[in-house]
Amino acid sequence: MKQQHFGTNSAGKILDIIKPENNPKKPVINWASLRENKAKYEAMKWADLPPIEKNFYKESSRTASMSQEEVELWRKENNNIICDDLKEGEKRCIPNPVCKFEDVFEHYPDIMANIRKVGFQKPTPIQSQAWPIILQGIDLIGIAQTGTGKTLAYLMPGFIHLTSQPISKDQRGGPGMLVLAPTRELALQVEAECLKYTYKGIKSICIYGGGDRKGQIDVVTKGVDIVIATPGRLNDLQMNNFINLKSITYLVLDEADRMLDMGFEPQIMKILIDVRPDRQTVMTSATWPDGVRRLAKSYLKNPMIVYVGTLDLAAVNTVEQRVIVIAEEEKKAFMQYFIDSMKPKDKVIIFVGKKLTADDLASDFGLQGIPVQSLHGNREQCDREQALDDFKKGKVRILVATDLASRGLDVHDITHVFNFDFPRNIEEYVHRVGRTGRAGRTGEAVTLVTKSDWRVASELIEILERANQVVPNELIAMAERYKEFQIRKEIEKDIRRPQRKPSK
Ligand code: AMP
Repeated sequence: MKQQHFGTNSAGKILDIIKPENNPKKPVINWASLRENKAKYEAMKWADLPPIEKNFYKESSRTASMSQEEVELWRKENNNIICDDLKEGEKRCIPNPVCKFEDVFEHYPDIMANIRKVGFQKPTPIQSQAWPIILQGIDLIGIAQTGTGKTLAYLMPGFIHLTSQPISKDQRGGPGMLVLAPTRELALQVEAECLKYTYKGIKSICIYGGGDRKGQIDVVTKGVDIVIATPGRLNDLQMNNFINLKSITYLVLDEADRMLDMGFEPQIMKILIDVRPDRQTVMTSATWPDGVRRLAKSYLKNPMIVYVGTLDLAAVNTVEQRVIVIAEEEKKAFMQYFIDSMKPKDKVIIFVGKKLTADDLASDFGLQGIPVQSLHGNREQCDREQALDDFKKGKVRILVATDLASRGLDVHDITHVFNFDFPRNIEEYVHRVGRTGRAGRTGEAVTLVTKSDWRVASELIEILERANQVVPNELIAMAERYKEFQIRKEIEKDIRRPQRKPSK
C-alpha cells in the first residue's frame, strides 16, 4: 500500500500515517444479506425433519348435529365458555363442544378405559371445548385455572398426537412432547396426571431444579416421550447438550402468566429456539394480561382461545367463603379457635404471606403436639415433596404454606382454606380458595382481613357478591374508607401541583 508522510515526531522522524481515504473501506453491515443468511440458516436447521401429523379429529354425529342454540346453551351453562379465533383475516369455524367423552375418544379405547377406571362423569367445560380444537391440530390458548381439568385438556390430545405420528419413537430421536410449568409442584402434579392416564408405554420424565440432576440426565438420555419441566433446569440441560428438543412436535406452556411472574421469559425464549416452529402449541393461563398476549403472539400460530368463566370460577362458586375483619394481634387466637374446632376428617391449608410466618405457625403447632407440615420456598426440595406427600396421604391434616401452594396444588380432599394473611392480590385469593371445593366437592374458605388490607376490600366484595356470599359490614366500611382516602389523596395532589401560568 502506498503510504503518504504527513508529520514529524519529536525525534524528527517522519511519521507514517495512513491517509484516511486510503483506509480499507470500513465494513458496512449488509442487513439484507444477514436476513437472507438467517433465513437460510433457519431453513437448514429445520431441513430433513420428519413430517408432523396434527389433525386427528373425527367429529361424532351427535356433536355435529348440535344446533347453534344448543351449542350456545351448552357454553353458557358450562362456566360461560367463550371462544374466539385469533387468526388474522378470515375466521375459521369454532368446533362444537363435546358433551360426552365418547364423542371425542370413541376411537381411542385406551383413553376411554382410563376415564372409566377413574369414574369421571363428563368432560369439564375447558375439556369439552379444548379437545375438538386441539385434536384438529389448531394451536390453543386456554384461559382456565387449576381445578378446572385443564391438565387433561392438553394431556389427552397430546397422547393421541404422540402415538399417531407417521414415524416411530426411534426415528424421532428424542422426546415428542414438552410441558413447561412454572413450579416444581405443578410439574410433579402434571407428571402424576401423566402417569395415571398414559398408555402404550408412553414414558415421561419430570425435570426441575433441586431434583436429582444426574438421575434426570440419565433418564433423558435413555429416551423419553414426554418431558415435563420447569424452564430453568430444562434450559440448563439444553445448554449442556443433554437433551434434544428438535424432536418435539407438541408443546405446552402451562400457567403462562405464572411463568412470566416468576421471570422465566428469557429461559422460555432460549428453550423455544430449539423447538421446531411447525409444532403444535397449547398455552394455559389463569389470566390474560399483556405479557401473556405477547407470549402467545410470539410462540403460537393462528391460535383459537377458550375462556372458561371469569374470576368467579367454578371452584369459587362451590366454596363457602367467610371473611373476618380482625386486628393483627388477634389473628393467632382466632386461628387456634378454628383449629380446635376442626373435625377428624377435616383437612386445612393455612396460607400465610411470609416464609417466616409459616415456620413460626408450624413450630407453634409442633409445640402443642399437633401434627403439621409446612411448604415454602426456603425448604429443601425433598422436604417440600415430603410435606406435600404427608398432606396428600393425610399423615398431617394441616399444611401451612405460602403462595407457592396456591396454584397447581391438587389435593382432592382439602375441606378448608384458612387465609391467615390476605394474599398480595385478588387473583391469588381466587387461586387459594380454589384449593378446596375441587372436582365437584364443596369446601369452606375462612379469610382474615386486617385494616392493612383495605386496598383489596372492594375487589373482595365483588368476588363475594358474585358468588352469593355474606359480605361483612366491616368490609364494606373498610372499602369506603379506602375510597375516601384515595379521593383525599387526589385532592391533596392537585393542591400541591404547581399552578400553570395562564398562557397569554
Ligand atoms: P386440573 O385443573 O388439571 O388441576 O385438574 C383438577 C382435578 O380434576 C384433577 O385431579 C383431575 O384429575 C380432575 N379432573 C380432570 N378432568 C375431570 C373430569 N372430566 N371430571 C372430573 N374430574 C376431572
